Amino acid sequence: MKNLYLNMPQFKAEMEKCLQCPSKPCQKACPAQVSPKDFIAAAKTGDINQAAELITEQNAMGEICGLVCPDSFCMRACVRAQIDFPIRIPALQASIMQKARQNNLPTKQNNVANGKKVAVIGAGPAGFGAIAALLKKGFAVTVFEKENVCGGALNLIPEARLPREIIAYEWQRLKQNPLLKAEFKTNITEYEKLLQQGFAGVVVATGAPHLRTLGIEGENLALAYDEYLTKPQQYAADGHVAVVGGGAVAVDCALTAAKQGAKHVEMFVRRRIGDMRITAAERQSLLDNGIDITTMTRPLKIEKHDNGLALYTVKTEFNADGRLQDVENTQTCRGGFAHVVLALGSTGAENMPQNPLILYAGDVVSGGTTAVQALASGKKAAEELAAKIA
Ligand SMILES: Cc1cc2nc3c(=O)[nH]c(=O)nc-3n(C[C@H](O)[C@H](O)[C@H](O)COP(=O)(O)OP(=O)(O)OC[C@H]3O[C@@H](n4cnc5c(N)ncnc54)[C@H](O)[C@@H]3O)c2cc1C
Repeated sequence: MKNLYLNMPQFKAEMEKCLQCPSKPCQKACPAQVSPKDFIAAAKTGDINQAAELITEQNAMGEICGLVCPDSFCMRACVRAQIDFPIRIPALQASIMQKARQNNLPTKQNNVANGKKVAVIGAGPAGFGAIAALLKKGFAVTVFEKENVCGGALNLIPEARLPREIIAYEWQRLKQNPLLKAEFKTNITEYEKLLQQGFAGVVVATGAPHLRTLGIEGENLALAYDEYLTKPQQYAADGHVAVVGGGAVAVDCALTAAKQGAKHVEMFVRRRIGDMRITAAERQSLLDNGIDITTMTRPLKIEKHDNGLALYTVKTEFNADGRLQDVENTQTCRGGFAHVVLALGSTGAENMPQNPLILYAGDVVSGGTTAVQALASGKKAAEELAAKIA
């Protein structure tokens, strides 16, 4: 497993690079408003617990986000990039939180109960953000989660990037708060009923409900990414695996297929490599694992043949308006795939019940985004709700 945390020389070297910019562009770029300038300053004095507290105050999943945040937030804003390279802020954050975990960082419980009860539906990142913000304001929070574990879509991220024990640990830290009650295996669909049951407000953080599809013939022969990533061993194949999609989820599927022993993994992407919304590290991991990327290609049909699944495709090009169109006479059929995995992302819910005391947060609103954006959205919804009912 690749080392997820910085070793001591790296840790010190990254902190030394911080220019302590007074305008804190790194904090402004963080959806959760964590301030790298401040937590680095604290960690540099050797006060790891103080650094971890500064992170936790803004982000209840500080170690998780440190491990999985893309380089498009704080790192992109890092002024150090104008000199040489941006500071590896997410890795620093993860490393600080790991050290604090090893120090058994006590959870601060300085909130006073305000006597009001709220419900949070869903214990993924948006739920975490909402729960932490509501607890801070003294609300008694009941979280209803339909699965038997928390973390939501984080549980689909391969273990090599996000060990499950970290999700369990960050949840346990929240759970230490006596104002939090959790009901697992509880599927809530009628949010308004909760208001009649004594909850002053509800935050719905149920994640993106709809997986994007291709709408092509034979699509039912393909595996959806959530099914594939939930049970990768069940779909282990030593042959060829096709992954349709060019985002971070598709990268996880391709790397998972390689890890499960596929002889050859090929990603099919409608646009160019440079258009793929993946980080430099993700791009590198595709190269390191010998994953092929077939760009400017659109799937047309999937069929079952004697030697496996066949994927029919057509080449694409940008027209004068910059829109993608098919290139005439470029249809081909590629056969012999053990699996075709669809990793096209997901979209938010429509027609959600509207009530001023029911707020929606995270991927249920925005479709598949990132853990830190979902968490920040949960925090914001909690603050809006608190302002209405406090
Ligand atoms: C394969 C994959 C890789 C990813 N990689 C990254 C990454 O590297 N970095 C990153 O930042 N983000 C990544 N993401 C995205 C990130 O995981 C999501 O953006 C984030 O989890 C969304 O949080 P959420 O709380 O809005 O929804 P979810 O995480 O989907 O959580 C929703 C929760 O609500 C529960 N729920 C749903 N309906 C109900 C109901 N009716 N009653 C009770 N509970 C319910 C669900 O069981 C779930 O636990 C990845 C996503 C996937 C799928």
